[in-house]
Amino acid sequence: MPELPEVEHVVRALSSLVTGRRIIAAELNLKRIAPGISRPAFNRQLQNALITGVGRRGKYILFQLESGHVLTTHLRMTGKFVSLTTDESLPPYAHVVFYLDDERRLVFCDMRQFGRMQIFKDPLRPPKELQTLAPEPLSDDFTEEYFLDTLSRSRRPLKHLLLDQTRVLGLGNIYAVEALFLAGISPVKAANTLSKPRARKLYQAIRDVLQEAIDAGSTLRIDLADGNGSYFERSERFWRVYECEGEPCVKCGMRIRRIVQGGRSTYFCRRCQR
Ligand SMILES: [Zn+2]
Repeated sequence: MPELPEVEHVVRALSSLVTGRRIIAAELNLKRIAPGISRPAFNRQLQNALITGVGRRGKYILFQLESGHVLTTHLRMTGKFVSLTTDESLPPYAHVVFYLDDERRLVFCDMRQFGRMQIFKDPLRPPKELQTLAPEPLSDDFTEEYFLDTLSRSRRPLKHLLLDQTRVLGLGNIYAVEALFLAGISPVKAANTLSKPRARKLYQAIRDVLQEAIDAGSTLRIDLADGNGSYFERSERFWRVYECEGEPCVKCGMRIRRIVQGGRSTYFCRRCQR
């Protein structure tokens, strides 16, 4: 599943490809991808729409249209966009096809069909799932004050809180585990028991792991021209603790442990993380 830094790279690739393009027609081939709208209405609302920009809120990709409408896409597990020329045949699982005015087609493929699209009309009144998201982690809205306050209000284990996108946005399983390691804080510690200096350290670690991941380029193969490639096959990447069970800690040499929290694996060093 792509995490926020990967979605950021998808957004950048899409932005340079489709900004300024007009959608000639939009074909919704699999209804469940856009459950709130009929197939004809989907086309009607997007037909002849000029794409003025592509952005992101959390892991929701936002296509801004000249009409003021916004088309959102969540990739979920296996969703991906592919850009095709007119003579290329459709890749497998091509559930939505956008015919663009430069004779290219932007195709949304999704093997597992969990990806979702939605159109909303008023950018000032986005759907609830977007409204409830916490501030963007790398923006000025995500302040140290906000983070400290959020921690003080929760008795949940830190790892759980960090994965709750309505509290702290942008950390999936990998980056939550890495941020806690970087800050030297135990994943099972209750959020409201963390001292202020240590909470500040964690705040910085969150921003650092996300920024580092964006700067390093994507860990996933994002090539919009490759119909067979996938966003969810990870390329080789060095993680500090993630998937390092039994390996020596890079700081102290003690073996990295794995536990399960909320059904997901947590990797940590018992000596370095307290
Ligand atoms: Zn260690």
